Amino acid sequence: MKDLSARILNMAQMRGATYCDVRVVNRTVQTLGVKDSRVQEMVQQESQGFGVRVIADGAWGFAACSRDDYADVDATVNRALQNARASALTKTREVRLGQPEANKGVFRSAFKLDPFMVSMSDKINLLLKADSEMRRAKPKNVHLVTTSELVFVREEKTFASSEGAFIQQEIVESGCEIQALATNEAGEVQTRTWPWGRHQQTRGFEFVLEQQLVENAPRLTQEAVELLRADACPALDATTVILSGNQVALQVHESCGHPIELDRVLKQEASFAGTSFLTPEKLYHLQYGSEIVNLTADATTPGGLGTFGYDDEGVPAQRIEVVKDGRFVGYMTNRELATEMNLGRSNGTMRAESWNHLPLIRMTNINLLPGAWKLDDLIADTDDGIYFDTNRSWSIDDKRLNFQFGCELAWEIKGGKKTRLLKNPIYTGVTPIFWRGCDAICDEAEWVVWGTPRCGKGQPAQTIRTGHGASPARFRNVKVFSRS
Ligand SMILES: [Zn+2]
Repeated sequence: MKDLSARILNMAQMRGATYCDVRVVNRTVQTLGVKDSRVQEMVQQESQGFGVRVIADGAWGFAACSRDDYADVDATVNRALQNARASALTKTREVRLGQPEANKGVFRSAFKLDPFMVSMSDKINLLLKADSEMRRAKPKNVHLVTTSELVFVREEKTFASSEGAFIQQEIVESGCEIQALATNEAGEVQTRTWPWGRHQQTRGFEFVLEQQLVENAPRLTQEAVELLRADACPALDATTVILSGNQVALQVHESCGHPIELDRVLKQEASFAGTSFLTPEKLYHLQYGSEIVNLTADATTPGGLGTFGYDDEGVPAQRIEVVKDGRFVGYMTNRELATEMNLGRSNGTMRAESWNHLPLIRMTNINLLPGAWKLDDLIADTDDGIYFDTNRSWSIDDKRLNFQFGCELAWEIKGGKKTRLLKNPIYTGVTPIFWRGCDAICDEAEWVVWGTPRCGKGQPAQTIRTGHGASPARFRNVKVFSRS
């Protein structure tokens, strides 16, 4: 890899690049799926290649080359330079990267059991067992569809730059999901998933075993069936809501994670629900949430799906404050925009889906720091409210301000006790008003680094894996209603 990257860097500089970096990536993704007691999917995909980014005539250029075409290294470097020179014709300013980042290092994500060394039959048997446990709990008058999935990723990448950086990383991910979908004779559908959609971490097969898919399987079917008979969530203009940890994770992702991406803020990137209400004059001034709300962008969180050693610009992983005691204090940046906005060194959030994608500012692990409450005490402390669990639908405007989230199930809380299961629950709000209504956050014991493996951004679209440390939290004066 050193020879290949040195050759590319030399070539680019000799042909006029004032900066160049190269990422050589080898990515393996294994997916196993079972549906209704049948093996549906057993796929292993491998992808190898490199992407080269150059600055020439003060503008960016990018080109990529798959391993099959390594004879075309020369042409790929030329293409990157041509792209830069074409971009330079319409540039409004010169790209500036600030201080050089000549980092050298090796990073390997920690795992106990290499998921690629666990036999296919052990993995499939786990899914078949979970599937049969879901099906065993099925009553006669309900139609049931059961699905389960395991996903494993190994990514090896080498980053080198004309500033002298040379970084090698190996990141392993494990993910899983099981779902029971129940339909009654009237055609009504209810679903329950575990752990929540596909949960994923930068860990090994031990992560999958800890999720206890088989043990949780019958409960999912029972709950989906109970939901078919449950009362609908009432329509209330202002009630107290407690969100499960996984729903807090999604709330953080959509209403905090995306709007702190500095490229969105500066309107350089507007696809997939677009720009941001967190405009630069609000930095250090806006009261984003109540004083107990503390959010970080932390690429060092153990096991997080946004955890790495260095970003795709070779900047070391960092932990930055985003919201401190309720106040908005930080964006996720890259080298170019941190320099342009005088924000100091990049905080290292540039990530590309693979070798053939240009890195973009992406969420790392956007974490809501734990508070002091036990969940049981929080429910006991709530006189009148609704507990929302496991996301089902989401919608948010293009400034990330007005949102509406649906969950798989809810519980009515009366006099400090869960009283009634409620179906089709939805809550809605406006981001800073909602977070200012947060008056309790559960402690470390409830805190999980939830993985969101399918975050979309960019054109061409890229899917990236992000993490969100979160525990259940309570919000006051929230509008709720029921999906029709
Ligand atoms: Zn997203």
